[in-house]
Amino acid sequence: MVIEAKKHTNKGKVADYIPALKEANPSVLALSIFDGAEFCFTAGDSQELFTLQSISKVLALALAIIDCGEDEVFSKVGMEPTGDPFNSISRLETQVPNKPLNPMINAGALVVSYLIKGDSPEHKLERLLELIRKMTGNDTISYNKEVASSEYLSADLNRALAYFLKQHHIIEGEIEDLLQYYTKQCAIELTCHDLAKIGFVIANEGKGFDRNEIIIPVKVARLVKTFMVTCGMYNASGEFAIKVGIPAKSGVSGGILGAVPNRLGIGIYGPSLDEKGNSVAGMKLLELLSDSFELSIF
Ligand code: GLN
Repeated sequence: MVIEAKKHTNKGKVADYIPALKEANPSVLALSIFDGAEFCFTAGDSQELFTLQSISKVLALALAIIDCGEDEVFSKVGMEPTGDPFNSISRLETQVPNKPLNPMINAGALVVSYLIKGDSPEHKLERLLELIRKMTGNDTISYNKEVASSEYLSADLNRALAYFLKQHHIIEGEIEDLLQYYTKQCAIELTCHDLAKIGFVIANEGKGFDRNEIIIPVKVARLVKTFMVTCGMYNASGEFAIKVGIPAKSGVSGGILGAVPNRLGIGIYGPSLDEKGNSVAGMKLLELLSDSFELSIF
């Protein structure tokens, strides 16, 4: 299956709007599947490290809800999918109230990042890393400084979104601090093996593979899984739900996080992207896996 899906890597191209992401090798494809046993099934270039990018939005949302509660989070960000690209600014102006439509687009993710508790960008990041290290059982996970600084220096669209949100009193405080945190959150670096473990916790209602340990509350796990279905693949989420039917979240690094409820966590890395910013080979691979093992939740 990985070999079959790998043929699709030449149908896309690596993200280049964050300069450091241009370095990625477009022909890479890696897969990990974790079913809660001690071992992970892996195939392809599974040792490759990559950054979470938008996949971090799922984890940041979980932490913000744990920190502030659902009511506060959803008073500032909506729950509806958009048909717009992930970095679109247009709806912020036309939508009343001006809160972003959902936490999986950049505007919404900036609000979520603002809500995470912490005295400084570093403190917020450390708290998110702590959650991710717990979910993966990997204490070495950190962020890629080069990718973070490359994004920070070229983040003018996100900067514009954040200033708009501040002007409309959805967020407060120092925007550069928020961008420092957000770009580091997006630059958290791991392998598809780690990603599969994260997927497993979300699939397993917030519990780790030691079934007694609650890593995130069940309600939060269900909520983020639902956002993964409705908004996880940006403005390709509808077609992806029909063709694949697995709660998933992609990032412009080429990563895809999958969570098959009560069954599996899936981690994929394939940096060659389609025009919407999703890994072309990664989506093909998920489609093949879903068909072969009947993984669709629908
Ligand atoms: N860090 C990226 C950004 O904010 C994440 C976007 C993505 O993965 N789609 O533009």
